[in-house]
Amino acid sequence: MSSCCDTASNEGAFDLAVIGAGSAGFAAAIAAAEQGARVALIGHGVIGGTCVNAGCVPSKTLLRAAEALHQARAANRFAGIDGQAALRDWRALVEQKDQLVDELRAAKYSGLLPAYNTIAYREGRARLVPGGVAVDGLAIGAPKIVIATGASAAIPGIPGIDGVPYLTSATAMTLDALPRSLLVVGGGYIGCELAQLFARLGVQVTLVCRRRLLPEAEPEIAAALAACFAQEGITVRAGVEYRGVRTEANGIALDVRHDGRDEAIAAERLLIAAGRRANSDDLGLDEAGVARGRNGGITVDDRMRTTRPGAYAAGDVTGRDQFVYMAAHGAKVAALNALNGDSLVYANAVMPAVVFTDPQAASVGLTEAQAVAAGHTVRTSILPLTHLPRALAARDTRGLVKLVAEAKSLKLLGAHLLAPEGGDTIQVAAIAIKAGMTAGDLAATIFPYLTTAEALKLAALGFAKDVAKLSCCAG
Ligand SMILES: Cc1cc2nc3c(=O)[nH]c(=O)nc-3n(C[C@H](O)[C@H](O)[C@H](O)COP(=O)(O)OP(=O)(O)OC[C@H]3O[C@@H](n4cnc5c(N)ncnc54)[C@H](O)[C@@H]3O)c2cc1C
Repeated sequence: MSSCCDTASNEGAFDLAVIGAGSAGFAAAIAAAEQGARVALIGHGVIGGTCVNAGCVPSKTLLRAAEALHQARAANRFAGIDGQAALRDWRALVEQKDQLVDELRAAKYSGLLPAYNTIAYREGRARLVPGGVAVDGLAIGAPKIVIATGASAAIPGIPGIDGVPYLTSATAMTLDALPRSLLVVGGGYIGCELAQLFARLGVQVTLVCRRRLLPEAEPEIAAALAACFAQEGITVRAGVEYRGVRTEANGIALDVRHDGRDEAIAAERLLIAAGRRANSDDLGLDEAGVARGRNGGITVDDRMRTTRPGAYAAGDVTGRDQFVYMAAHGAKVAALNALNGDSLVYANAVMPAVVFTDPQAASVGLTEAQAVAAGHTVRTSILPLTHLPRALAARDTRGLVKLVAEAKSLKLLGAHLLAPEGGDTIQVAAIAIKAGMTAGDLAATIFPYLTTAEALKLAALGFAKDVAKLSCCAG
């Protein structure tokens, strides 16, 4: 990778230094360059950062492949069809994934640099120093700085963890060979996606978590996803307390306390997916007066300003909204505020989020619990997909929709779905919430028949009517 991007030509004469050349770093650098600013973009590690190299892109292409296997095997839900599919060559799949990663890295990151001649790219590990940043000892002067150094897998303090081999999301997707069994620690979105991925590829998967699957999601969605996992043979052990981890003859064993009993869960490989920790330890932040919070996340205000004047932060290093589109949004706000006087505000009130399991868990706005905690009196409407014509026709009724609305006005506060392609459908709800629509407005909107999005209309109708008593596409 090191030869892709030759480097800063005009050190010392920059308007902005951006530390980290991932999604946030590139978004900040490009936004600044479009204003005519001279930008030093400093990257350590593979250019492009997490999303393209080890996150969104590799995980989503492998998940799609696993879904193709699943769909073929599940085709016998239609009368007269026998379906079968098998993984023949895991390494071939990994190589095809790597090729896509290489193509997208070039198209969306390294290959863009020549188009912006005021961005000087320098490889190296940067630290904050008075007057700018230092890259491997070389000073780069800039009055304003955007820190966009991302995050890495957080490793929980389970006794013995330092003495056992473990995978993270980054290494699991590059394995030479699939293990026979895998123990996934963590029920967040990365743990859920990877558990289902490997299970569908034929690995015997056990997922353990301290609370439940998707602890931030609506409980109905988490429970329905757990049922889908059970149907696919994924063992979920929620509510465990980790006591220790050790190697065994055939792999590893995790000692847990579960339902008042001590037990050991064994597997060939261990995958840690227990959250992310900000890459903020080696940046000289304490000396520079840049405050950090939970998991090392850099504290920023709604303008993306850190506690040091002139220094901004964006993306996963802030520890919040760890999605690539939010990294890009925050980075643009940070860069433009750094150059133009802090007028822009980071906006995450209507932030869709998708878990790329199958069915997908997608949400936007407030959950019922969040709405209540924020002081709203709420009403909810839940539509199981057994009422959705699209799901009935597909003979796949896994999932549900839950709408959360202000009790009196029925103004929409949140939408949550578990549905195949729920990630595309959620955007309809995002636009409705952004537009300030009520459940009545949504119910009165024309939706095409036999689509997944129609579930939102049916759930909106559910505030006033028994959806089971409606005729086809009646509104
Ligand atoms: C398995 C997985 C799946 C994901 N799937 C999705 C998804 O489907 N959709 C989605 O929206 N998000 C997804 N994400 C999250 C998404 O990848 C991140 O939100 C996004 O990549 C964050 O971008 P960033 O620029 O903040 O950080 P990064 O992309 O991590 O970039 C930070 C860069 O800074 C570099 N760096 C660190 N320290 C220094 C230093 N001192 N000097 C110079 N450079 C430094 C790092 O090496 C890295 O290259 C996924 C993440 C994972 C792990």
